[in-house]
Amino acid sequence: MSILRNTDGANNTKMSNIITNSIPAGIYIHIPFCARKCPYCDFYSVSELSYLDIFMDALLHELEFRAEPDLNIDTIYIGGGTPSLLSCGQTEKIIAHIIKCFNVMDNPQITMEINPGTLCISDIAQIKQQGFNGHSNKNNYAKALGNGTDTGTTAEITRKLENIRSIGVNRLSIGVQSFQDHKLSFLKRIHSAGTAINTIESARKAGFDNISIDLMYGLPGETQNSWKYDLDVAISMNCEHLSCYMLTYEPGTPMYDEVAGNKFKPLDDEKVSLLFKQTSGYLASHDFYHYEISNFARCMKKKEKELCCQSKHNRKYWNMVPYLGFGPSAHSYDGINRFSNDSSVKTYIARLNRGKLPLKMEEKLTIEQKMIETVMLGLRTAEGINIKNFEHKFNCDFDKLFGTVMERVKSRSWGELCSGKSTYEINHETKGEGIAQEFFHLNVEGWIFLDSVVSWFVDEI
Ligand code: SF4
Repeated sequence: MSILRNTDGANNTKMSNIITNSIPAGIYIHIPFCARKCPYCDFYSVSELSYLDIFMDALLHELEFRAEPDLNIDTIYIGGGTPSLLSCGQTEKIIAHIIKCFNVMDNPQITMEINPGTLCISDIAQIKQQGFNGHSNKNNYAKALGNGTDTGTTAEITRKLENIRSIGVNRLSIGVQSFQDHKLSFLKRIHSAGTAINTIESARKAGFDNISIDLMYGLPGETQNSWKYDLDVAISMNCEHLSCYMLTYEPGTPMYDEVAGNKFKPLDDEKVSLLFKQTSGYLASHDFYHYEISNFARCMKKKEKELCCQSKHNRKYWNMVPYLGFGPSAHSYDGINRFSNDSSVKTYIARLNRGKLPLKMEEKLTIEQKMIETVMLGLRTAEGINIKNFEHKFNCDFDKLFGTVMERVKSRSWGELCSGKSTYEINHETKGEGIAQEFFHLNVEGWIFLDSVVSWFVDEI
């Protein structure tokens, strides 16, 4: 089925006939607004908040346009951008519309990204005036706590988070990035370390028992001690999940231009690799399971690689499970085709106002593309590539195709074949859930050379 032969029609984006009787899909909502653009970020967002209300109308319209009441959904992810700029009423409307337009199953995982510094009325007022006043120089945990917002503000943050919890959001992804003000200042984030801590504590008070935080490492001059400080604070906050990203310099971002103009010297690759290894080892020693190259889930019971703390939604991406994306620049995948919406919020609104879908790109994945993506995404995960599933899906002999590459990886001690029970429902395809299967996976050393390893695999396809 080609989903987008005619980008004006709604019927072209139906995916339920492809994934009927299959595992549930996920829904991603992109909120394309940020208080201020961070100089390293290449996600699509604008800071013209005056568009927020008409964007909301367009988004609800898109959901109705692409409604599929029979399509099973078990994860909803409201990201961006900065979804915490929405009022609770707006978030509630989005969730209610998803429930109206799709078959949202019992107990869905509903995640919302939160940017500390956007939860109070005073924050929003300040954002609207574009008046940020930087950060304090305090950079240790105790000082950071002391630097938090006052009691009145804390109560306001907690109240907003309680409201968010009450409308069905049951998982938060908080964009902390660092618990040190000098790092936040370099990244030009709008919040302080104190506000980040305050937000996490308020989330707990509001009843959230599934909290993820984003942290960033590899900033210029960063040492293992400095990074350990951020990890220590994160561990002490008892979060269920950590996403640790290395700072990268993406073309088109102001920070990329600064590096190109020699404004500062990035941390060299060797030091960044050491920080990556440190992260994996240190978090493992504190009962975090490194289940994807950048993601760590707290093991509730020791030695169990429990799924409950992992991002169910993101696992769909890594396992090539269908998902629907709504909002500017959002991508969708139906198991065969991939398509994306126009990035511009103005174009997005204008097209929906004219009764048309805001589609920009449609691509029917070839077998080779699917193989490449399966390898590329599988190697990012600790579980690795499920060999039986791969052979079943692509009607091939994995060993014949990749035997030489696997030997090359093994000879460098970067990865290995192993057998075990798959932890994911992707196994529905071979009806093998719970049965021991064979996987090829990389270890931490291998992840450092992920790009090279992927290119070796791709050369064999
Ligand atoms: S990093 Fe987050 S807050 Fe900063 S511009 Fe990107 S999406 Fe917005």
